[in-house]
Amino acid sequence: MDGSDSKTEVSQELTDGFHLIIDALKLNGINNVYHVPGIPVTDLGRMMQAEGMRVISFRHESNAGNAAAIAGYLTRKPGVCLTVSAPGFLNGLVSLAHATTNCWPMILISGSSEREIVDLQKGDYEEMDQLAVAKPLCKAAYRILHAEDIGVGIARAIRAAVSGRPGGVYLDIPASLLGQVMDAETGARSLIKVVDPSPAQIPAPQAVDRALDVLKGAERPLLILGKGAAYAQCDAIVRQFVERTGAPYIAMSMAKGLLPDDHPQYAGAARSLVLKESDCVMLIGARLNWLLSHGQGKQWGERFTKRFIHVDIDPKEMDSNQPISAPLVGDIESTLSLMLAKMSNWAPPPSEWTEAVNAKRAANVERMAPKLANNNVPMDFHGALGRLKRVFADHPDAILVNEGANTLDFARSIIDMAKPRKRLDVGTWGVMGIGMGTAIAATVETGHPVVAVEGDSAFGFSGMEVETICRYGLPVCVVVFNNSGIYRGTDADPTGRDPGTTVFVRESRYDLMMQAFGGEGITARSPDDLERAVRDAIASGKPTLVNAIIDPEAGTESGRIGNLNPQSAVNRQ
Ligand code: ADP
Ligand code: MG
Repeated sequence: MDGSDSKTEVSQELTDGFHLIIDALKLNGINNVYHVPGIPVTDLGRMMQAEGMRVISFRHESNAGNAAAIAGYLTRKPGVCLTVSAPGFLNGLVSLAHATTNCWPMILISGSSEREIVDLQKGDYEEMDQLAVAKPLCKAAYRILHAEDIGVGIARAIRAAVSGRPGGVYLDIPASLLGQVMDAETGARSLIKVVDPSPAQIPAPQAVDRALDVLKGAERPLLILGKGAAYAQCDAIVRQFVERTGAPYIAMSMAKGLLPDDHPQYAGAARSLVLKESDCVMLIGARLNWLLSHGQGKQWGERFTKRFIHVDIDPKEMDSNQPISAPLVGDIESTLSLMLAKMSNWAPPPSEWTEAVNAKRAANVERMAPKLANNNVPMDFHGALGRLKRVFADHPDAILVNEGANTLDFARSIIDMAKPRKRLDVGTWGVMGIGMGTAIAATVETGHPVVAVEGDSAFGFSGMEVETICRYGLPVCVVVFNNSGIYRGTDADPTGRDPGTTVFVRESRYDLMMQAFGGEGITARSPDDLERAVRDAIASGKPTLVNAIIDPEAGTESGRIGNLNPQSAVNRQ
């Protein structure tokens, strides 16, 4: 072809919906996608991979969604889950709601049918009005109909997910959008790199002074750190603030390790005493929800006798359960920095208080020690977790994923965390099923090894993802606390017809599941065996499942929240 022809030739470079979505995500630093392939997004997943994104394909959308949710928590960028329409979307929606409840940024992108078919209910393959279904379950929901709006759609989704109180966003992608073609240069110009996606929110000076006055007036102050403080990733400022106050603090489960659990001010082992006896409680990125008994009841002592200071980015959180004397509406980094600037001559709390807390903590730790050192066979929860505590002490960078009932409750108090965001668990809902999705994203996002300590029931919700762990060769060691049932392995059907409703096949061979896909599978019957197996797994970095056989008699109903079960007044026996 010679130069004279080129005037008449249309040599326009084109792009399409597929590539604009990929370019928009990458432009905003989103490079990982948690996915289950299928119509109409199979090619989108393939192209994402081809364009250098890390695409992790799961076996079930709710696990991919849980992975995206925890990716958001760990990175402060929205974790992205990509699913097919209707049923795949609905599976992903569970974790989108979970992310929203936990205040974690996530974007669920689902393929959908064309509006013309959905709106007249003509009956399409996997037809559903997904946008309408998603709306009440997330922070925001958007649909993109035209390729030239992809930049705006992705920008809005990112901003909605990470600004203010973070949460889940649904993005509806009708199949025909993906194939829409436009001029590449115009397309590139249409993309938006979001500037300052989670702007600082600075509390008013009067609010800071009010909080300092309340804190100064306290004789028995207590600080409670929640996962909002861990999410904020201003670890040095949190530590400086806690140390400047000199007050005892406790950490909600996912805030453990924000300061090391062996910190002299950590009152985790004196939790009952500090909740009850404190006269002023400062909440930092923690809500007074069911996990804190709504700030009232037996645990807390007489209602309306304590003063509360509450740091939270969401103004609506104030007074949600108890009157807040000093609301501090702002982001944690800005708020604590402003407070610190005015705390140069801060006097520590009265020594009677800190000494009483320290004495109680020392007594409780001493009482617990022999239980944790037992080498009983069959294993109980304390013997098994006592060994895992030692393993984590030697591997402070390993991430602990934890779910179950007794397995969760005991592990939370027994296993110490030395670094921030190393403990990932069931979150605000106390939901089961987060295990394998969380474990996979935790190592994909951080590169650190993961030990997932799972009740046998909890593991069952996401167990098939051990294939995903093996396929991607991830350094995940799953420890199944196998007590042959939910809560316990001892229930029986009173009529004698079927298994009891809460029991599983006795001593199931979960280890063979990992072996089936080429990983290591080991059975551990003693605490010694368990410790050795987990140490080996971390050292090797190979996908491993340790089937830890626990005494079926060892658990209690619903772990530590058995009180939430309603009781029947009718006795038919
Ligand atoms: P936990 O379960 O550990 O008590 P919650 O999830 O109940 O923690 O509370 C976390 C709180 O942190 C939420 O109310 C959320 O609005 C808040 N939050 C999240 N990020 C920030 C931030 N950067 N600054 C201030 N508050 C935040
Ligand atoms: Mg069990």
